[in-house]
Amino acid sequence: MQKTDFGNLGTCLSNCNRRFRRYLVNATILAIGAAIAAFMLINLLAMRELSNHAAPPKHALTVILGVSIIDTTAGGRLHQNQMVEIEKGYIRYIGETDSKPVPANATVISGRGKYLIPGLWDAHIHTLRLSPQLHFPLLIANGVTSVRDMGDACSWSSSLDCVSDHQNWTKQIDAGVIVGPRIIQTITYHLEELPDQASELEQLISALKNRGEPFLKLQLDDQTPNAQFERMMQVAKEKGLSVAGHLPFAANLAGSSYAFASLEHDLYLLVQCSDARMTFNGKNNAKLALLAAYNKEQCAFLLADFVKKGTAYVPTHTASTGQDLRYAVGLAETDLALANQYVIAPQRWVWWLLRKAGKASFAEQKTLADMHAAALQLTLLAKQAGVKVLAGSDALDGDVVHGFGLHDELQNLVAAGLSPAEALNAATLEPARHLGLEEKLGSIAVGKMADLVLLDANPLDDIRNTRRINTVFSDGRVYDQAAIDSALGYVANQSQSLTVTSRFLRGIWYSPPNKAIASPQQ
Ligand SMILES: [Zn+2]
Repeated sequence: MQKTDFGNLGTCLSNCNRRFRRYLVNATILAIGAAIAAFMLINLLAMRELSNHAAPPKHALTVILGVSIIDTTAGGRLHQNQMVEIEKGYIRYIGETDSKPVPANATVISGRGKYLIPGLWDAHIHTLRLSPQLHFPLLIANGVTSVRDMGDACSWSSSLDCVSDHQNWTKQIDAGVIVGPRIIQTITYHLEELPDQASELEQLISALKNRGEPFLKLQLDDQTPNAQFERMMQVAKEKGLSVAGHLPFAANLAGSSYAFASLEHDLYLLVQCSDARMTFNGKNNAKLALLAAYNKEQCAFLLADFVKKGTAYVPTHTASTGQDLRYAVGLAETDLALANQYVIAPQRWVWWLLRKAGKASFAEQKTLADMHAAALQLTLLAKQAGVKVLAGSDALDGDVVHGFGLHDELQNLVAAGLSPAEALNAATLEPARHLGLEEKLGSIAVGKMADLVLLDANPLDDIRNTRRINTVFSDGRVYDQAAIDSALGYVANQSQSLTVTSRFLRGIWYSPPNKAIASPQQ
């Protein structure tokens, strides 16, 4: 019996093996064939022309009547029943309604029962080559009229060839060929690894300085030793290039001779304010230890140093500790619906994986909630210490949708303890100040650019009312409800487009030759 069994098994094994090998070979051939076909199809589809969404024409003269203006520079004082005259994108007159006749050729917009705030800024977004199709219209539709682009991913693999994209976008936005905000500052290179040789580092920093990068964006390994970090900061200082971004956990900024232009993401301030920062590794237990070892004096010293050196703080709560917490407890239905509506499939798949990876046990959820609460407290502390706190969403990061993400961040700032007027300041006047543009932007005054948002409800009563957008004024263009809906509809459509999806996929493996370092003047 046993013998027969073994015999059968032996026959089966050799037969099965042969059969299995045949299946394997066939399946491999099929898979390779399918991959080649998919690759060719994606490349073919990606060659098709992209569609653009044209902006409405620029208005020569617009008058808003009967509106309540929110003065974010004066703690949110309300000026009721105002008329605002906008000529060629600039505010020419502000006064009581009927304080002067309305010019005959003006387009009149009723502001009765509505609230006017300065155009919003998002001080931390990321872009792709497909941003005119996927992101910019969402920003405008959400009242975001100025952005600071923290760069990197014009294509996924090449960060150094994006300069021309940004220049083109600015021209196209100005010409109305595409809908988009003012791209105020753009960084197109992330330093993620320190070169071995000091000479290479000097060459890199000189090249970035020569091509007019506003600062060097740091995204180094969090465990980079302080000595290496200091050497890098010294070279940047010598070459006259400022530095911003993530901070290695061991970095000692306070009291040093060098300055950070801005610290991004709340996690890095939490770490800097703790005695446990040298041993922090991001694990759950380490998070508890990090919070337990909070050092109040060290934190106050660091924040005072920020004030002295003009370092801005961009907590991006939504994408940093806020995201960890949202992933741990599960995303709200509304957030999922937003991603489904406006985000292309491959990116949604990546976000889905991130969500899966971010699911946490109940104990971990508690820790992440504590981390988020502590991060919010530090933002209030920073604000009270006089640090420039800027609202940034980190859009493009997991489940942060352009435009919509900024309103989430405003809610986070109010949850931190900022007043609604202070939160609005963080998304209007403060970024304008930080970037030296307060004479032109960031508040509502005669002579300033008329980047404005008309709201259907008062954001000082409830910061969520910044979402109740009636009309957006940007660079002389007026986006009424129909124009806003059309911009949103365009992105919803583009996010389903095979051409756009193919270009996105192609961006993962294809990028133009990297020439920026070799010829920095380009
Ligand atoms: Zn970012």
